[in-house]
Parts: sequence; C-alpha cells; structure tokens
Amino acid sequence: MHEQQGASVRELMAENAALRRQLASLIDQAESNHAIMMRHQAFDLELVGAGSFQELVATIFRQLPIVSSLDIVTLSLVDSGADIFTVMHKLGVDFDSLPNLLFHEHPEELGFDFEPGHPPRPRLVPYHPVSHASAFPHPPAGLASVALVPLLRNKRLIGCLNLGSRDPSRFTPLLGTDFVEHMGSIIAICLENVISNEMLKYIGLTDALTGVYNRRYMDRRLAEEVGRARRQGYSIACMYIDVDHFKQVNDTHGHQAGDDVLREVASRIKDELRMSDTLGRFGGEEFVVLLIDADLESAKLVAQRIRAGVAGQDFLLAEGEALPVTVSIGVAALDDAEGDDPIEDVASALVAQADQALYQAKQNGRNQVVSAA
Ligand code: GH3
Ligand code: MG
Ligand code: MG
Repeated sequence: MHEQQGASVRELMAENAALRRQLASLIDQAESNHAIMMRHQAFDLELVGAGSFQELVATIFRQLPIVSSLDIVTLSLVDSGADIFTVMHKLGVDFDSLPNLLFHEHPEELGFDFEPGHPPRPRLVPYHPVSHASAFPHPPAGLASVALVPLLRNKRLIGCLNLGSRDPSRFTPLLGTDFVEHMGSIIAICLENVISNEMLKYIGLTDALTGVYNRRYMDRRLAEEVGRARRQGYSIACMYIDVDHFKQVNDTHGHQAGDDVLREVASRIKDELRMSDTLGRFGGEEFVVLLIDADLESAKLVAQRIRAGVAGQDFLLAEGEALPVTVSIGVAALDDAEGDDPIEDVASALVAQADQALYQAKQNGRNQVVSAA
C-alpha cells in the first residue's frame, strides 16, 4: 500500500517536474518570440523612417540579416531603361557600398512564373547555384535554402527580396509564407515611396530639356562648394558657356531644331568633364560648369576642349542638314577662398566674373574662351 502510494507520489512529482520544464521552455519560447517580434517591429519602424533610397536599402542590408538571422540578403529591382539607377547615381547614391543591390531590366528576369491575374508568390526552396545565380551573385559558402519574396505594388512586380540561409530547413516549400509576405509588402511600400520621392527631388533639380542640373540646383551647389573650398583650402573654377547666334538657329531651323542643338551642346560639354564637375543649364542657351579643385589654368584647358568639341563637328539636324555650332566661354576661378564674405556673395561674384569674361569673348568675335583677369 505504502509502496504503491510512494510510487504514485514519485510519478506525480516526475510529471510535475516535466510540466514545469515544459512550462519553462514555453515561457522561453514565448519570450524569444516576443523578442523576435519586437526586433521586427523596430526594423519595420526603421524602414518606414528611412529618408532616402540609400538609407532604406542600407538599412535592409544591415539590419535584416541580424533581425531575421540570415546569412545573406540581396535586393533585386526592376528598372526598365535604368531610370532608377541613373537618378540615384546622379543624386549621389554610393552603389559600391551596396554590392547586394541588383538591377534588372525586365520583371521576367526575377524568375517567377507569371500567370495572368495571379501575382507571383514567395518561393521558399533549397538553394540552387545555377537557377539562383542572378539573385545571389556572391553567395556565402554553404548557402542551403533561400526565400525569393516578390515585391509587389498594385499587383505590379517592382522587385524581389532574396533571403538566404545556411540552414537547409530554414526555407522549405512546406513553410507558411505569411511572415515573408508581410516583410515583402512593407519593403515594397517603402521602396516605392523613397524612389518616387527621390525622382521628384531629381525632377526639381534638373532641366527637363537637357537632363543637366537646373539653375536652382546650381545656385545651391555653388554656395555649398564655395563653403567647402574655403574650409578645405582648394580652388574652384566656374565656366559660363553661351551658344553663339543661337537665335538664328531657332529662326532658320525652328524651335525644335533649337532644342536638339541645346541637347547636343549639353552632351558635348559633358563629354569633356570629370565626375566631380557639375554642369547646369542656367536658362535659354546658357550653361554653367562648376569645376572642383581646379585653378584658372586647368579650367581654361577644359573650356578650350569644350569649345573645340562643339565647333569641331557640325550638328546633324533631324531633317538631315549639318549645322555648324559654336560656343563662347568665360572662365573664372576662386583661388583664395579665404575671407569673411558670405558664401552666397562669393559664389554669385564668381559666376558674375565668368559672365563678364563671356561678354568679352562675345565682343572679341565669339567661338573663343576668355578668362577673368
Ligand atoms: P549671342 O551669340 O550674342 O549669344 O547671340 P544669341 O542669338 O545666341 O543670343 P540671344 O540671347 O539673342 O538669343 C538667345 C535665344 O535663345 C533666344 C531664345 O528664343 C532662344 N531660347 C531660349 N530658350 C530656348 C529653349 O529652351 N529652346 C530653344 N529652342 N530656344 C531657346
Ligand atoms: Mg545668351
Ligand atoms: Mg547666345
């Protein structure tokens, strides 16, 4: 009797201990789930708060591997005509720092099966080096399973979030996709938002006809660069370029031909510039170039190249006619950027000096470079 009682007490105690262990592990599990959820919520907030394309993408690459314990994260974007790439590049996005940001010309390149009326669904599959080569151009050693999460806006495929793990059971076709879909939709919304904001920013800074910067941007940039040149003690130079007898082009060949000439002039100027130089259309047929870390002599050389590049080869008009075009250029430099004058005043004085030199070039007969004394 006693023995029996003793046995059942022992059983009860064992059962109790097992239950306690189970409970402790459930609490651990709940706490860890809670922690994961909090990390993801913080991550979501960080995504939503990103103020620029660079910041958003960098946040995804920096945080998502930590938040979700992944071995690699890449992001493929559909970018027909390289519009996004071009604008982001012009706005100064540092693509070298984002090796896992991938661009694709067509949505088909993302490898989803397209059925009419059915947006693609996430694919959770074992890693396959050949079929996943475009999603993971630099896979980590031992990559075993991947999730390819379509990024959709209004049922349109704008890209794909590619998650990779060395754990083969991390992503399998049997797993639910709610979680990655949630992540995909937040990232898709944020991406679309920052991309359209950056596009708007870019449109506000550029000239629609020639694609170079507009006057508003140049004025701001000039002041910034004067300030920087002053702080860091290097020289900057400015060129004022004006197309010679441009009114005649319009009068003789029409406004459309005039527009084509302006585009071609902008492109020939650009051909002679370095990455650090900035070209803007100041209005009409007038362009301004800002050269960083350039003195008057080197700016004059660049100006001569531009003049020769425009005059050297006739412009081919749409109607097939060849038109000789020339430009006059005034050059000025700010060698000694020391001083107490407000930077805006220094910047506009620099442009005014280049403009005066341009006036001299016109007076002297056009198709030439004159530098400010
Ligand atoms: P100069 O050699 O002295 O510079 O003579 P110019 O004829 O180039 O100078 P002017 O300032 O008299 O003429 C500039 C012309 O540029 C007049 C204007 O109609 C034209 N223009 C201004 N903006 C545009 C534009 O966006 N497209 C076209 N096609 N023409 C423009
Ligand atoms: Mg003019
Ligand atoms: Mg002119």
